[in-house]
Amino acid sequence: MARRASAARMLAEGDVCVLCSATVVPIVYGFPAPDAFDEVEAGRIVLGGCMMYPNAPDYACPTKGCAGA
Ligand SMILES: [Zn+2]
Repeated sequence: MARRASAARMLAEGDVCVLCSATVVPIVYGFPAPDAFDEVEAGRIVLGGCMMYPNAPDYACPTKGCAGA
């Protein structure tokens, strides 16, 4: 018996944003290190903020303003 895939599928490494086709990047949670902002500017990570919650995504679209972020 096959389970139905979740509608809100988690993004994973190597996936691309369905809206802008940008390669998704890891979300960094918690208080960011000083150089994390450089990584964000370079589009290598996304900051997830300090809120930790169950089933939080691991990856997100790096494009600022993209609804797929
Ligand atoms: Zn996007």
